[in-house]
Amino acid sequence: MAFTVAIDGPAGAGKSTVARRVAKALGFTYIDTGAMYRSIALQVLEQSIDPEAIETVSDLAHGSAIFLSPLDSMGNQKVCVGGRDVTQEIRTPEVSQMTSRISAIPEVRSAMVELQRSISRQSEHGVVLEGRDIGTVVFPQAEVKIFLTASAEERAQRRFQELQAKGIEMRFEMVLAEQIERDERDSQRAASPLKIADDAHYLMTDGLTIEQVVQKIVDMCTDKGYGA
Ligand code: C5P
Repeated sequence: MAFTVAIDGPAGAGKSTVARRVAKALGFTYIDTGAMYRSIALQVLEQSIDPEAIETVSDLAHGSAIFLSPLDSMGNQKVCVGGRDVTQEIRTPEVSQMTSRISAIPEVRSAMVELQRSISRQSEHGVVLEGRDIGTVVFPQAEVKIFLTASAEERAQRRFQELQAKGIEMRFEMVLAEQIERDERDSQRAASPLKIADDAHYLMTDGLTIEQVVQKIVDMCTDKGYGA
C-alpha cells in the first residue's frame, strides 16, 4: 500500500492548494475527492435530475467515468467525466451547493470511495487525498492525517477572492452564508459526515502562509518514516 496522506476539512480551508503542493513536494499522486462529487452534481444539474431521486443519482454516480489527470507543471489537475473536460464547470456556486446535497447519498459515496481506493492502489510512491471523510472512512489507516481549517470569515474571504478572480460576481455575505450552509450540511449528514478523526493533526491555518502549512505536513510525513 502506498504512503497515504489524508487531508480533511471544511470548505475554503485551503485543502486543494496545500494538498497539491504537498503532492508535488513528495512526488505523490493527488486525488481531489471533492472534484469527483462535483462531477456528479454537474451532471445532475445539466440533466435536470431531481437530487431527491436517490436511485437515479446513484445510478449516475456508479455509471460515471471520472478521470483526474496527474498534476501538470503548474500544479493543476484536469477533471474529466465521460471524456469531457469539466475542470472549470464544476467550480460554480450552484455546483458547490448541489454537490453538498448529492454527496449525502450513501450509494453516491460508495461509488466515489471505491474509485478513490482504486486510484490509490495504482499509485507507486504515495498519495495525497483531500476531502471530508478521508481520514475517517476512506483511509482510516493513512500514515498522516490532517484536519485543515481556518476561521469561517477567513475561509469565506478566500472563496470570495477565488470567485472574483474567476469573474463570478457574488456578495461576500452571500459567500459566507452559502459556506455556513454547506459546512452544516456536510457535518450533519448521516453518511460519512465531516468530522475530525481521533488521530488527526488539527491544523488551524489563520495567520500561517501556504508554505508553512505545506512544510508542516511534509515534516509529518518524514516523521512517519517517508523518505527515510
Ligand atoms: O472540497 P470541495 O469544496 O470541492 O467539496 C465539494 C463538496 O463535496 C463538499 O461540500 C462536500 O459536500 C462534498 N465532499 C464530500 N466528501 C468528500 C469530498 C467532498 O462529501 N470526500
